[in-house]
Amino acid sequence: MKIHEYQAKELLKRFGVPTPSGKMVTSAEDAMEAAKGLGNPPYVVKAQIHAGGRGKAGGVKVVQSVEEVKQKASEMLGMILRTHQTGPEGQEVRRLLIEEGVQIEKELYMGLVLDRAKKRVVLMASSEGGMDIEEVAAKSPEKIHKVAIDPVAGLQAYQVRQLIFGMGLPATLVGKATKMCMALYKAYLATDASIVEINPLIITKGGDLLALDAKMNFDDNALFRHDDVNALRDLDEEDPKEIEAKKYDLSYIALDGSVGCMVNGAGLAMATMDIIKSCGGSPANFLDVGGGADAEKVAAAFSIILQDPAVKAVLVNIFGGIMKCDVIAEGVITAAKQLHLKVPVVVRLEGTNVEIGKKMLNESGLALTSADDMLDAAQKVVQLAAQAG
Ligand code: ADP
Ligand code: MG
Repeated sequence: MKIHEYQAKELLKRFGVPTPSGKMVTSAEDAMEAAKGLGNPPYVVKAQIHAGGRGKAGGVKVVQSVEEVKQKASEMLGMILRTHQTGPEGQEVRRLLIEEGVQIEKELYMGLVLDRAKKRVVLMASSEGGMDIEEVAAKSPEKIHKVAIDPVAGLQAYQVRQLIFGMGLPATLVGKATKMCMALYKAYLATDASIVEINPLIITKGGDLLALDAKMNFDDNALFRHDDVNALRDLDEEDPKEIEAKKYDLSYIALDGSVGCMVNGAGLAMATMDIIKSCGGSPANFLDVGGGADAEKVAAAFSIILQDPAVKAVLVNIFGGIMKCDVIAEGVITAAKQLHLKVPVVVRLEGTNVEIGKKMLNESGLALTSADDMLDAAQKVVQLAAQAG
């Protein structure tokens, strides 16, 4: 799960990470009031969306008066911000962070992620802050310094010194950097974060360290024990289809192809996506309806797939083991009728009650194409999607 910059800053502050003063607002009027509350200019108006790269895209503006704050805020609210992380469709700006403008001496990068190969949390730092860290990693990887944290011993002061001196920064920063890194690591662990990224972490003109931007993602599987984090969820920023899928406890991930996939079992879902690809098509989603789905859940899954306008054809590929083929058929038929099915559907059923399931589908009056095996099904659905697209 992702949260906004202003939320990450509030959370990190509780762990002792220094951040600039600021306030989240949703109207231009409130933006001006918030700026007045911050004291002297400059002020910064920052669009809050679940994506980075806002600065370059016009989502971060430094201004010199409260009137300008109001002006920029009214321009930004409601606009569609397109950054390299949002994709071409962009994201609507509904919230702003009004922040004190800080005098920047130097911009650094700092991030915490789990390195699965090392089986440790890794603290990364770079003197090349403020820019795309992926680009730094690709072009000058030697500028990214890393230390792996022992889960028992925790982050050690000497590791922070390694990073500071690795970046060529003066020893005078060691004390502040150690506090900052310890606080970031504590926050990472305590909230079950999957990533904490401060880009930029700045050295101010006054010689202080400050988290000027903050990104935090969390491990969805640990959210059940973090009600406070869960409360920060902003559904406006999430794919409505994925939200709907979560309600029904379906594993659904939207992709950008044209073949909708309804499959049971993660392994079969992966194999189905592979075979669609190998037949020259492209999956519109990953969907695992799970082993014990009932007709209602199948219907929900089917309708989620059909809500995606990019879907030109659907492949239902089910192995009825725990789940019976007639239950699948019932769900598909219910959803198809409710939604006035317009796209072609190829069905490949195998397993328990397969004959009953096939009979129900054949007698449903719906335009369904049945397939005998996976290859046959994939070839048929890819062809139908190509004709429709
Ligand atoms: P993004 O990463 O989405 O582009 P950032 O929060 O990193 O957004 O802001 C982009 C740039 O804007 C920063 O690198 C920094 O130079 C400037 N900036 C952001 N917040 C402030 C602030 N409070 N005061 C001064 N400059 C800021
Ligand atoms: Mg940033």
